[in-house]
Amino acid sequence: MSRVYNFSAGPSMLPESVLKKAAAEMLDYEGSGQSVMEMSHRSKTYDAIIKGAEALLREVMNIPDNYKVLFLQGGGSTQFAMTALNLMNKNNKADYIVTGQWAKKAAKEAARYGDVKIVASSEDKTFSYIPKTDKSMFRDDADYAYICMNNTIYGTVYHQLPDTGDVPLVADISSCILSEPIDVSKFGLLFAGAQKNMGPSGVTIVIIREDLIGNAMDITPTMLNYKTHADNDSLFNTPPCYAIYICKLVLEWVKNEIGGLDKMKELNEKKAKLLYDFLDSSELFKGTVVAEDRSLMNVPFVTGNADLDAKFVKEATESGFVNIKGHRTVGGMRASIYNAMPYEGVEKLVEFMKKFEAENK
Ligand SMILES: *Cc1c(COP(=O)(O)O)cnc(C)c1O
Repeated sequence: MSRVYNFSAGPSMLPESVLKKAAAEMLDYEGSGQSVMEMSHRSKTYDAIIKGAEALLREVMNIPDNYKVLFLQGGGSTQFAMTALNLMNKNNKADYIVTGQWAKKAAKEAARYGDVKIVASSEDKTFSYIPKTDKSMFRDDADYAYICMNNTIYGTVYHQLPDTGDVPLVADISSCILSEPIDVSKFGLLFAGAQKNMGPSGVTIVIIREDLIGNAMDITPTMLNYKTHADNDSLFNTPPCYAIYICKLVLEWVKNEIGGLDKMKELNEKKAKLLYDFLDSSELFKGTVVAEDRSLMNVPFVTGNADLDAKFVKEATESGFVNIKGHRTVGGMRASIYNAMPYEGVEKLVEFMKKFEAENK
């Protein structure tokens, strides 16, 4: 068996030990005589899985007791409407910082339901930086302020959160959840599709402060109301059972094999530094993001020559470094180096880039 190094922005690599455990438990989960895919979501066995996943997430992320954890469907994209329908409920206003395609889509969706103000944007420079904001730029009477914490396509991240005063901060953490510790108490709501850093696609995690639940707009469909899922421990209807089970295994890996999020951050910094240091010293390859806003998870880079970029992508793919082509709006390459990408994968990629550089001077 030979496994590739998958640099995809998502779905992305899962830890090998997680895949092996899932394989070993496939036919007979803990003596139940069935796979997790086959069992009732109302069974005692499954209840222990979903409760276990929640308990682990709370422990690993240090989630305060006044926050609910929800396991939902519809991907990160459904949250673009759901956040607005549920939270734009007092003054029907929300402030957005547009740092990439995902934040832009979220703002556009929210604008269907209320008054959306774009407080700042970095679109002028192809989203290659995080725009500076201060408290005065946000409306005092906005129901929430919205950011996309890690910009998957452009490779930027908020190293420091914007000061929004008393306006609750909502953040899309789809591509940075579990990559480093995060102070949940600074947010009103956090959400993440699982398929970047936490598990397979199909489940979306929402972490919401309890006082923000229960005031959804009247037009909100039952399934898009956070209260529906909060009141039913994410079992109002059939949840994405298998995806939640894999998330539980990933959380066990983060806790027991890695040693928690402080340790995860250390490993991610070490991996990212290897690649960024090379990009900074290379005469051929260049990172596309300003140094102070660089993501630990997604690293876009270019040669400055589209033909050479294409040649690199082709040769990299043939050598087992797959899904390294950049997003069409940036061009070039993007290496997504999420939690499950081993250090050795980045080391080998850098070696490959050095060789390519020498051959293409
Ligand atoms: C991938 C991604 C999304 C979209 O997620 P889906 O689950 O495909 O809807 C949203 N936001 C960010 C930051 C992402 O990386």
